[in-house]
Amino acid sequence: MPAADLSIQQVTKEYETAGGTLTILKDVNLELQRGEAVAITGPSGSGKSTLLYIIGTLEEPTSGKVQLNGKDPFALSPSEQAIFRNHEIGFIFQDHHLLPQCSVLENVLVPTLVDTGATAEKTEKAKSLLDRVGLTHRIHHRPAQLSGGERQRVAVCRALINNPTVMVADEPTGNLDPHTAESIGSLLLEISREQNTILVCVTHSEALAERFQLRQQLTDGKLDVLTTAGTGKSEGNEESGVG
Ligand code: ADP
Repeated sequence: MPAADLSIQQVTKEYETAGGTLTILKDVNLELQRGEAVAITGPSGSGKSTLLYIIGTLEEPTSGKVQLNGKDPFALSPSEQAIFRNHEIGFIFQDHHLLPQCSVLENVLVPTLVDTGATAEKTEKAKSLLDRVGLTHRIHHRPAQLSGGERQRVAVCRALINNPTVMVADEPTGNLDPHTAESIGSLLLEISREQNTILVCVTHSEALAERFQLRQQLTDGKLDVLTTAGTGKSEGNEESGVG
């Protein structure tokens, strides 16, 4: 069997506090290949964001192994790790975190600036992603001129501009109305498959989670498989209307 593009093995996360050791994650295992998507649910405080930050290489596990695209990101020097993160991981947050002074196109190109810069190739890729999410007519607009759903679509394009191995999404529909949330959920599932990127999505939304074929739940730091077969809605046979 080929090695998983994302492999989390026996990952534990502890924090030392004045009151003693807090164990947040206990022997968490997760293996995913490019093109696969998982929704992670669980009660508040169960460690979902901590796991997402570990996958995003922002937090180092206390023990266990993380491999992304064949590399252990925590074995890299801080500067190598920053480049690795920029290439291999796309982030989507509850708030879009777009730069208000930049156009839609410039915002999508921001992750390229620390590396290649906005080359002709990257600019074409940004335009093609924006076209894919239905925003061609908006590329020169500022974020303030867009709806919440449109801003999140720009954030999805920004996350994908460097063709990452994994896209991590933290409550990506948390600030959206139900209709827009549904269309962003569809878009995330469809575009991550099209771009052959792993999607790891943390959500409180049952409506969003039930669309994923693979669902896992974190309870008391343990990750358990909820289901490996979804409703079929995640097969990409739906249109994701502009939100
Ligand atoms: P979730 O995303 O599921 O709500 P988090 O991953 O944000 O949960 O947090 C899990 C637990 O870890 C919480 O109880 C939180 O208070 C604790 N925690 C997070 N970061 C730290 C830290 N730096 N020091 C101590 N405890 C922390």
